[in-house]
Amino acid sequence: MDRLGQSLKANVKTMKSRVSKYAVYGVMIALAAIFAATLLNAYFQTGGITPMALLQAQQNNATLWILDAMPFIFAFWGQQVSSIMAYEASTMVIDQTNELRTQAAALEYQAMHDATHDQLTDLPNRVLLRDRLDQAIHVGMREDRKLALFILDLDSFKEVNDTLGHYSGDRLLKHVAMRLRAVVRGSDTLSRLGGDEFAILLPVIKENSDVVVVLKKIQNAFQTPFMLDGLKLEVQASIGVAVFPDHGTDVDTITQRADVAMYAAKQNNQGYIIYSTDYDKHSPRRLTLMGELRQAIDNDELILHFQPKINIRTNTVTGAEALVRWQHPQHGFMPPDEFIPLAERTGLIKPLSMWVLKRAIDQALIWHGNKLKLNIAINISPSTLHDMELPDAITGVLASCTLAPHHITFEITEGSIIKDPARALEILTRLANMGIRISIDDFGTGYSSLAYLKKMPASEVKIDKSFVLDMLENENDAAIVRATIDLAHNLGMKVVAEGVENKETADRLAELGCDILQGFYFSKPLAPRQFLNWISDHTPSEKQSTAKGPESPAVSGRK
Ligand code: C2E
Ligand code: CA
Ligand code: CA
Repeated sequence: MDRLGQSLKANVKTMKSRVSKYAVYGVMIALAAIFAATLLNAYFQTGGITPMALLQAQQNNATLWILDAMPFIFAFWGQQVSSIMAYEASTMVIDQTNELRTQAAALEYQAMHDATHDQLTDLPNRVLLRDRLDQAIHVGMREDRKLALFILDLDSFKEVNDTLGHYSGDRLLKHVAMRLRAVVRGSDTLSRLGGDEFAILLPVIKENSDVVVVLKKIQNAFQTPFMLDGLKLEVQASIGVAVFPDHGTDVDTITQRADVAMYAAKQNNQGYIIYSTDYDKHSPRRLTLMGELRQAIDNDELILHFQPKINIRTNTVTGAEALVRWQHPQHGFMPPDEFIPLAERTGLIKPLSMWVLKRAIDQALIWHGNKLKLNIAINISPSTLHDMELPDAITGVLASCTLAPHHITFEITEGSIIKDPARALEILTRLANMGIRISIDDFGTGYSSLAYLKKMPASEVKIDKSFVLDMLENENDAAIVRATIDLAHNLGMKVVAEGVENKETADRLAELGCDILQGFYFSKPLAPRQFLNWISDHTPSEKQSTAKGPESPAVSGRK
């Protein structure tokens, strides 16, 4: 019997003995009543109390007989009731305990499930796929068996998203997931890696030709057009396959090689490609970049550029956004869009984010040392945001420096918040409680409403540049900008417009009440030295600037 069973038994025993105790009191009261009634009876009948008179009272008085039966009734009743009550209580406790156990198990399962599954399709996510691939590789090594990893990327998904909208794009992804589910076996893992990318793990294959059978099945699944809003959509996928142990013997290599094969399939319009070293030539950049990025972080090949953020009303620089670049020894200067998504895939985003954080804070400390009290804005990528260790890592960085947290802004994209709002809220609240300012970046692209985001402890909304760039020509974009400014102000948040490329846009944004501007009209992102030069070029001479002092450089003219 388990511990719960034993303690239940003990509880039942205690309860029974408590109820029995009251039954004993009942018996004693009944005995006392019999004794008193017999005494009274004997006294009234014979005028005295002798043993003979007592015996007579008992023999002649029928009412006393009823009283005599009471102790037995009490004793019997006490036993019965205590047994029934104790039994009922124990079953109640058992039922409730079981209920609680079921609920706790369900909650635990749900939390586990959420962390390892994609919200949209409910398929295993990248984390779970990695884990299963790792296990399959171990089994494969032990039992000398092969396995295959497929990576699929939908062709022209972006067009679907752009023309039919995000909602239809999501529905298409669900349809694709459903069709792929029908292709794989129960022992295989079908996973959504993110965006329009899926993966299939076949944990055991006999020979490489088995892969082709599955590839054909996948292609068949895409043969019938997808129906969406009454439209027939022809959707194809490019598939890359890597086999263990032929193409790699660890998770990263197998994943990279399936990825290279997928990329080659996409470029060659070939439907699918099984990896071979030949394809490394077709995508040397992609393959080698992944390996080089880790070294780049260690070797300081990454650099931060800074773009000023300007307060419209005071015409002063309030802060700067840190934007990472990679000075690659062969490929030259690389923009973040080329390697941040890669870093996200390979798990390198964590060291990269920590590098950016430390460097950006170091730079802010240098400015503060020069009496430039600028706020530093740091981009936090989606996977970094959902990393539960982030707040602790940040606390560590902040503890070792003297920059006050309110001089730091974290720019979090709207998309990464709506990916898992509950978790985002938890982490953002912890960061905000530390005093760090939170800005909702790329606002307007995540298809959420401001009302929904008001729960987030954000102090700033950053309107995505796609709306700002065209706002003078495109009435829709202008309406979005206007509505965002009004709503954000109603919620007590500041509004930043990014992508301000000309004076007309800056003036229009000022009229609409926008608070802070950022864009090429003021300055491109600049290396630290150029940034300082820009600040001094745009700070009015001593005489003009005395009113503001050097703490917030005024933007007196634009280049
Ligand atoms: P973002 O956070 O939306 O950054 C703004 C991007 O707009 C920057 O591109 C910036 O150079 C560009 N930009 C600024 N003003 C203008 C303008 O007037 N017109 C136009 N057309 N573009 C303008 P960049 O530096 O290439 O960065 C691209 C994206 O890469 C960033 O988008 C951000 O999502 C990501 N990123 C950059 N640095 C980091 C980083 O350190 N960590 C993380 N996680 N992501 C970063
Ligand atoms: Ca940003
Ligand atoms: Ca943006």
